[in-house]
Amino acid sequence: MTNPLLSVWDTPFKLAPFDKISDADFAPAFEEALAAHKAEIEAIAASAEAPSFANTIEAMEVAGEGLDKVLSVFFSVAGADSNPAREELQRDFSPKLAAHSAEISANKALFGRIKAIWDARDTLDLTEEQQRVLMLTHRGFVRGGAALEGDADARMKEIKSRLAVLGTEFTQNLLADEREWFMPLAEEDLEGLPEFAVDAARAAGEEKGAEGPVVTLSRSIIVPFLQFSPRRDLREKAFEAWAARGANGGETDNRAIAGEILALREERAKLLGYASFADYKLETEMAKTPDAVRGLLMDVWEPAKARAEADAAVLTEMMHADGINGDLAPWDWRYYAEKRRKAEHDLDEAALKPYLQLDRMIEACFACATKLFGLQFKALDVPLYHEDCRAWEVIRDGDHVAVFIGDYFARGGKRSGAWCSAMRGQAKFPEVRGPVVINVCNFAKGDPALLSYDDARTLFHEFGHALHQMLSNVTYESISGTSVARDFVELPSQLYEHWLEVPEVLAEYATHAETGEPMPQAMLEKVLGAANFDQGFATVEYVASALVDLAFHEGAAPSDPMAKQAEVLAELGMPAAITMRHATPHFAHVFAGDGYSSGYYSYMWSEVMDADAFEAFEEAGDAFDPETAKALEQHILSTGGSVEADELYKRFRGRLPGVEALLKGRGLAA
Ligand SMILES: [Zn+2]
Repeated sequence: MTNPLLSVWDTPFKLAPFDKISDADFAPAFEEALAAHKAEIEAIAASAEAPSFANTIEAMEVAGEGLDKVLSVFFSVAGADSNPAREELQRDFSPKLAAHSAEISANKALFGRIKAIWDARDTLDLTEEQQRVLMLTHRGFVRGGAALEGDADARMKEIKSRLAVLGTEFTQNLLADEREWFMPLAEEDLEGLPEFAVDAARAAGEEKGAEGPVVTLSRSIIVPFLQFSPRRDLREKAFEAWAARGANGGETDNRAIAGEILALREERAKLLGYASFADYKLETEMAKTPDAVRGLLMDVWEPAKARAEADAAVLTEMMHADGINGDLAPWDWRYYAEKRRKAEHDLDEAALKPYLQLDRMIEACFACATKLFGLQFKALDVPLYHEDCRAWEVIRDGDHVAVFIGDYFARGGKRSGAWCSAMRGQAKFPEVRGPVVINVCNFAKGDPALLSYDDARTLFHEFGHALHQMLSNVTYESISGTSVARDFVELPSQLYEHWLEVPEVLAEYATHAETGEPMPQAMLEKVLGAANFDQGFATVEYVASALVDLAFHEGAAPSDPMAKQAEVLAELGMPAAITMRHATPHFAHVFAGDGYSSGYYSYMWSEVMDADAFEAFEEAGDAFDPETAKALEQHILSTGGSVEADELYKRFRGRLPGVEALLKGRGLAA
């Protein structure tokens, strides 16, 4: 019998036949499909025909179809519905996949063909999209080091493997420091802590084998402690330990590792011909240059610092009124900010929840997409990997657009967080095919299931990513949907969150589970007002981290990263009662791997864009303005990575984004 993962999927919409797949099918299908992909790549590389776009680039696009099928099913269940067998399979597959892609990018014969096509590109009469795919393929190989020869090639390999080792050490040291430290609490030290924080401290105590409750350095435990504990001495002790992670001396100290990583990154960028690591890293981003990143961050920094300083004065007065003299310290900020929040914006989560029913919020998500883009959603009855999954066919003007799957509830075996993935990406080559897109969340089950306000935002956020996949309209899959620059990919998702806050949406869909009454106006205003509370603090701690990250990777690598960090903060005039969100010895975004190195700015970059993009609707005087929605789909949601992100944004907005809308949204505008 043929393996169901590799057979022809003769099912509605060619969905994977989940009811026929068992765990025992994965390993044999994976081995067979991996071998088939290797053979296809080898055949392309060894072809006797002269290299052409069709026999090389298009051939690479269609290669690995079996592997795509196996992995789309496997990674869906491994992330959302795992079990020991699937975990074991993942441990087996991951290194094999990493070796497979490393082998492809190091294939000199294959690169030779790609380079020949690239060099002849002006004579080939390629479409705009073909030129783009060719450029991205060639650039990807070059950036990976495929064009290097001899000593440079050997050195690049050394650098890569040393960086992988250092990244792992950095992470493990950080984990060790976080595991090691805890602070026992006496019963009277629990005073002032809310029930959830007390429960968490007791559970942590049990886990550590302590006599009673403890504070640990896990963010979910220490932050509430700093927020609620009136014991200034204990807050100070806990904060100092938290701030010292990775910088405690001895075997787990990360400071020297950070220095070595920065030096190797600089060398790597120079081998590839870039002036600095930041230039190398930002080349593929919307921002493109270190100057563009700095410009945006500094536009936000000054207003954020001014707000933080004004807030510090208020909090200092509150502290003095408590009989504590002197200056506000970093371990005081969260405590007094929480007191202030309670006085000014107290929001009763328990009273809010019945207004946010999951099913009504899904309806709201869909209704906004109907109004904006004319999409209709028809429930489907198809076999999926878990009984909680629901599916809809997405239709426009009677035509099939996509299949959308929602897997909303938390359960054992599901990774934490929320995400969107395409089980099949949109493409028109080699044939037209609609995408299959899934949103996975971790909401508490209930009857009816109720959401917190954060949950509802998450629902809209992930659905924004789904729209980016579903409305994609390009030829080649490698550039479809969310295959865009990292600092651009959160634009559709964060932008979609804005429609949750459109008053008419909440008024229609936020109805009480029992009474059916719409949310009271006063509650609505509190919900919307709470969003920009204490944003001076949040913006300052974030932007300071992003600017230090950028400074580390521009120009020559600093010989002493801690001195460089101090220098950057001094130049900025960092407020005394606020520290970096992630200081160097525990800045895992930047040092655990390459993902966010000289890229920590990108969260803020996306937020600037989503605020500015939503303002296009506000300027049109209608959150559902049809012309603006049409432009959004035409220039951003349908285009995938077929055009540079900054060009796409200009086509949509007529200009690049400015920070004004973000400052207004965060309550930082003058
Ligand atoms: Zn996202």
